[in-house]
Parts: sequence; structure tokens; C-alpha cells
Amino acid sequence: MTALVEGRTGEWEVVIGLEVHAQVVSQAKLFSGAPTAFGAEPNSQVSLIDAAMPGMLPVINEECVRQAVRTGLGLNAKINRHSVFDRKNYFYPDLPQGYQISQYKQPIVGEGTVTVDLPDGEARDVGIERLHLEQDAGKSVHDRDPRNSLIDLNRAGVALMEIVSKPDLRSADEAGAYLTKLRAILRYLGTCDGNMEQGSMRADVNVSVRRPGEPLGTRCEMKNVNSIRFVKQAIEYEARRQIEIIEDGGSIAQETRLFDPDRGETRPMRAKEEAHDYRYFPDPDLLPLELSEAFVDELRAALPELPDVKKARFMVDYGLSAYDANVLVAERETAAFFEAVVAGGRDPKTAANWVISNLFGSLNREDKTIAESPVSAEQLGGLLDLLADKTISGRIAKDVFDEMFKTGKDSAEIVEEKGLKQITDTGAIETVIEQIIADNPKQADQYRSGNTKVAGWFTGQAMRATQGKANPQLVNEILKDKLG
Ligand code: ADP
Ligand code: MG
Repeated sequence: MTALVEGRTGEWEVVIGLEVHAQVVSQAKLFSGAPTAFGAEPNSQVSLIDAAMPGMLPVINEECVRQAVRTGLGLNAKINRHSVFDRKNYFYPDLPQGYQISQYKQPIVGEGTVTVDLPDGEARDVGIERLHLEQDAGKSVHDRDPRNSLIDLNRAGVALMEIVSKPDLRSADEAGAYLTKLRAILRYLGTCDGNMEQGSMRADVNVSVRRPGEPLGTRCEMKNVNSIRFVKQAIEYEARRQIEIIEDGGSIAQETRLFDPDRGETRPMRAKEEAHDYRYFPDPDLLPLELSEAFVDELRAALPELPDVKKARFMVDYGLSAYDANVLVAERETAAFFEAVVAGGRDPKTAANWVISNLFGSLNREDKTIAESPVSAEQLGGLLDLLADKTISGRIAKDVFDEMFKTGKDSAEIVEEKGLKQITDTGAIETVIEQIIADNPKQADQYRSGNTKVAGWFTGQAMRATQGKANPQLVNEILKDKLG
């Protein structure tokens, strides 16, 4: 299914390819031992190599190589056991080397696929073109000093994975779903924290438009977009802009553009540079990277269970719907929480409902992550046990949950304290119902003359009279008996 966009002169297909820069989780930089922690004092994490002092030699950080290979395996991609580091030459104040060490013709990871879960419930495979390792640059700071721009080299030399998709995406929603899935995979693997606000994941967004069935159109590229929402906005805006130009008889110039989140629009930055402008050549300071088969195999064997496999297992083992399984596996912590709740044989569908509706609802309301949940998996399990053995009714359980969320207390303690045990004593319920019937002869007559809707009203009265504690099944049976 392809989402087409209506123009003035007919329908258009939007074509999108994303280049994602993902900062590698690693203590040290790609070619130096300097630390990588976020938010440090400017220029406090810079080695002589990162500052490009003459005569310094880069040494590859094996951990970064391992992370790139693990990511490639997680993207079902070909691992290139022979790859080469090149110099990409350009001048910029935050790049003291005068070149970036990157990979060009021979990247460490080749073609792969990501299965993307679309908003309409369908799944689609999006091709990965390649993944290569490269250095990040420093940062120019323009707002600290009234007269000068300052340079912070803390980020210079930090390892990035550039993950390039094929032009397989067809709408802003698909691009958003792709980024969501890619980020989930990186987080499961622990190879990138996926934190877009801190800049550890950012996307270059390539957009073109064409008539359905025609060859690919000329693309424009929006650099360094740093949230999924902005990526979607940039695509919507850019597709519209291109369609209008072509429909007015113009043509698209290939260029690099900037997305301005404040105005929600894209603006030209520079004409697109070609590869030869960078004069790529193999870095003479670095040998080609050779990986042994055993190195790759060992990493493959130690990969964690990834979201797609976990989702399938949740559907088969727990009988969950695709939707519920998707929601639960979106983050590794959520999936682990759910599995801790069902541990010991609790009903998986009930557990999924409680985690998705009640727990997520409460967490969202307070802007908390699952790691910050005041209710632990064991505690939620305890509540489900009280529900399963009919100690409390479903309605009461919701109130108990809210109290648990507020206070962090166990369910049993709250039920005891507040006297919320379900009333299963037939005699007690009979007394309540007899009183209600006696007080409401008109409704009782309506019921007897065949208006069964009134039965629901009676149930409500009985539940209210017992503060929701009466067993609803017993209430219904006794009502039928007394009114019938
Ligand atoms: P470069 O390295 O010069 O940016 P690539 O050919 O590697 O160019 O492509 C970069 C990204 O642009 C890829 O994600 C690719 O899928 C995407 N892309 C290529 N052609 C198009 C097109 N016509 N429309 C949209 N995206 C495209
Ligand atoms: Mg590019």
C-alpha cells in the first residue's frame, strides 16, 4: 500500500531515505581514549588526538567495532569482514584535523533490513543500504560570548554509526515508524541510547517526489533533524514544496536544506556537494579493518532477543494480539516488566491489559518511565492474584491500583487497611437487595412487567450500597431471584 499525495494536477508519490547518525555506546572515543560522557565541561574530554596535534596517531577502539558489528547483526545485515577507513576532507572550525575519518567505499556493514510496524497494523520491510563507522565533529558555540564563536571539542572523535536506508519509505508516518523501530533495536542491543534530545541520534532526511510509476525524482536533503516529530514535519513540508514547484512548471535542484522547527519549514543551506569534493582516500595512519569469522560469530551468539522475535514469542506463548505484543516489546524494560508480572502462571491477557491500560496510563500522566514506576511487577502481580481469587472485585481493583501508584504500598495492605474485601456472603447481599426493592417499588414493578433494563439499575444500586464491594455475579443472581 502506497500513500499518495493529492496535488493540483494529480497524484504524487513521496520517496524518502534516511541517513541516521547514531552515537555508539562506548566509554572512549573511536580513535582515542578520551571519555564520551554527555554534558561535561567544554573541552574537558579532549585528547591530543582529538585536538589533532601534529604527529598523533589514531588507534581503533575495539569496543566501537564490536558495537557496529552487533548493530549490523541486529539489522539482519551483511557484515563485511574487510573494511577501510577513509579521510573525508573538508574545512570547518570544529574539525581541527581538516578531515573526518569515515568509511566510504568499503563500510563495515552492508545491506540489511528493518521490519517496520506501520500505524495501520501492517508490517513492511525497509532496506538498509549500509552502516559505517565515523568520527563525530566538535561543536561551535555561538551564544556564550558576544563577540566570538567558541569551540567545544568534547564530541570531536566520538564514534558514530551512520545507518543509511534505501529510498523505501513513502510517507512521513512510515519514516516515523522506521525511526521508532530502528531506535528500539539500537536500545535493545545497547549500541546507542537513542536519545534524540541529547543528539545521540539524529537524521538526515532525503525527500523527492514523483508521479506513481515514474523513475526517482531529484532529492533534497535536510540535515541533522533531531526528533521524530520534526522528521515528519520536514517531510510533509518538503514534499508539498517540491510538488508545488513541479506543478508550476519548475524543477527541483538537488541541495542540502535546513529544517527550522520554529517555523515548521525547510530553507536552502547549500548546493549539494559531490563525493569528489571531499577527495576521499584511505587513511594512511590506519590499516584496513580485518574481522575474523570467530569474532563475528561470538557477537552473533551473544545478541539479546530483539523486538520482532520477542513480539512473535509473546503472541505464540501468551496468546497476545499483535497490537498488545507490539506495545509491550517497544522497550526492553516494558517487556521484562510484563514477563515478571505473568511469571508464576498469571493470566497473560489480564496482565497485558493492566500493564498497557492502567500502568502506562498512570505513568504517562506523570511523565514517568517504567523504570520509575512506583508499582513494581511483583506488586502488580499481587494485585492480579487478589482479583483472580475474588478477594476483590474488578472495580475495587482499579481503586486499589491507583492507591498503590500513589503510595507504593502493596495491594494486600491497602485492601486490609480500607476494608475493601469483596462481599461474598449471600445473606449480607440479600439483606441489601431486599432493602433496595422495598425502597423502590416502582422500579421493581417495571422489572416484573418485562423491562429488563431496570435490572442494570438495580445492580448499580446494590454496588453503590456496598461501596462496590459486593460480588457482582452474586448480586445479579440474587436480584433475579428476588425480582423474578
Ligand atoms: P549521499 O551519500 O550523497 O547523501 P546516497 O546515494 O548515499 O547519497 O543516498 C543518501 C540517502 O538518500 C539514502 O538514504 C537514500 O535512500 C536516499 N535517496 C537516494 N535517492 C533518493 C531519492 N531520489 N529520493 C529520496 N531519497 C533518496
Ligand atoms: Mg547524505
